[in-house]
Amino acid sequence: MELKNISAFLKAQIEAYHVQPIAYHRGIVTRVGDGVVRVEGLPGRLYGELLEFDGGVYGMALDLTENGVGAVLFDTADAVCVGCRVRGTGTVAETPVGDVLLGRVIDPIGRPLDGKPLQADRFLPVERPAPAIIDRRPVDKPMETGILAIDSMIPIGRGQRELIIGDRQTGKTTIALDSILNQKNSDMLCVYCAIGQKASTVAGVIQTLRNAGAMDYTVVVSATASDSPAMQYLAPYAAASVAEAFSAQGKDVLIVYDDLTKHAVAYRTMSLLLLRPPGREAFPGDVFYLHSRLLERSACLSKEKGGGSITALPIVETMAGNISAYIPTNIISITDGQIYLESELFHADVRPAVNTGLSVSRVGRAAQHDAMKAVSGTLRIDLSQYREMAVFTRFGNDLDASTKKMLRRGETLINIFKQDKNHPLSVFDEVVLLLAYNENCLEAVPARNMRGAMQKLIAVIGGACPGERERILQTGKMSDADKAALTAALHEKQEEYTS
Ligand code: ATP
Ligand code: MG
Repeated sequence: MELKNISAFLKAQIEAYHVQPIAYHRGIVTRVGDGVVRVEGLPGRLYGELLEFDGGVYGMALDLTENGVGAVLFDTADAVCVGCRVRGTGTVAETPVGDVLLGRVIDPIGRPLDGKPLQADRFLPVERPAPAIIDRRPVDKPMETGILAIDSMIPIGRGQRELIIGDRQTGKTTIALDSILNQKNSDMLCVYCAIGQKASTVAGVIQTLRNAGAMDYTVVVSATASDSPAMQYLAPYAAASVAEAFSAQGKDVLIVYDDLTKHAVAYRTMSLLLLRPPGREAFPGDVFYLHSRLLERSACLSKEKGGGSITALPIVETMAGNISAYIPTNIISITDGQIYLESELFHADVRPAVNTGLSVSRVGRAAQHDAMKAVSGTLRIDLSQYREMAVFTRFGNDLDASTKKMLRRGETLINIFKQDKNHPLSVFDEVVLLLAYNENCLEAVPARNMRGAMQKLIAVIGGACPGERERILQTGKMSDADKAALTAALHEKQEEYTS
């Protein structure tokens, strides 16, 4: 560039340069401890406003009083000390949203955790109001989990909130993950929110999702046990905002909160440090609202609002099977049903360890494929009759033929419900297995061979009836003719798959 051009260029740049003064309120930190700070000054803050401290540390204003602000810090509190200056940013915490997030792992305020840069162009506040009554419609489409015991007896619909509850190490996360894996060939997007878990556990979950190719349609929002309580508190709300952005585009979204017990504990920590009065189990008074406002954001939206939906699978951990503790009862009363997992069943090798007696889905049959409805009608009754009989028969073994038959059927059903992790079944597989049970085709198979026989059955019948298979997979419906053809094939090929 010539000299003249350079000076003209510089002149133009200088003329175009305008310094805009930025006016902001400033406060001074007067107390710091355990990730909580008190700030003097700083009037006119919003509840939940982001605060910027000297040194680039961020926090959130949660306690607004006449002469100061109580705030929680997002990062380790090293850089913040008494006397530090604080600036209000005028905005509440936000998270990036949109398709760029698919396949990514982020923290609640949108910083990527997978080592790659993130270029987001849309942001939403983490706290947003739930859809109004008028904007909702009833849940009527199934959300297939691919887990036979759940899809047949505790059906989950798109837009429903189904709690997964159980002691530690009972397979809670596995059920949620299998549900995500099963969405591979559906149109659903998934959000997995890890709250207060070990970083190694979260890494394991992400690896499982990657190996199964499920990260293509999944976003992971994570605040691990080493993150500040404020981050853990924000995580589920941020994840809900990510899901809402998808559902506003008319998509169906599945969101997993793993787990809300740790979320409540993080909130308790924050509240106690902010000197809020403790209530039952030392939780603050508003712990019910903490989860109700989160779970109300999952909904099935009306046609006018795009017809999207958010299905929530919150997870709650109980202590020694005590589902009447404070947090479990709260969340049971908010959700539309629960899947109750039991350690005893888990250790007796009944996996998934679903206790079908205590598990319910309050949306029920409206959210089930017609084909599944046709074959799953009597399962619950069969199981409860079996349980009742099994207790009596422990005392003696002179049983009449009909009781023996009932016991054998019950045992067969329990064995059919056993399912390996990360092996979700398609609707066709599930329907055929239950049809085989209804037709007593699997009763002669010993328990140890059941898994192999089931796999063979699915392959053999799928091969013998490709037209029926396709129709059930496409429409979820089974006509009388299809049912007759499948039943005939089941009897005809019984030798093949039971041998
Ligand atoms: P935590 O309380 O630690 O979060 P959790 O209830 O989420 O535990 P998982 O981590 O899902 O339980 O499962 C516990 C263990 O049981 C894991 O090692 C998992 O591999 C195993 N497991 C879970 N479900 C099954 C299954 N259907 N078949 C075989 N193994 C299973
Ligand atoms: Mg878990």
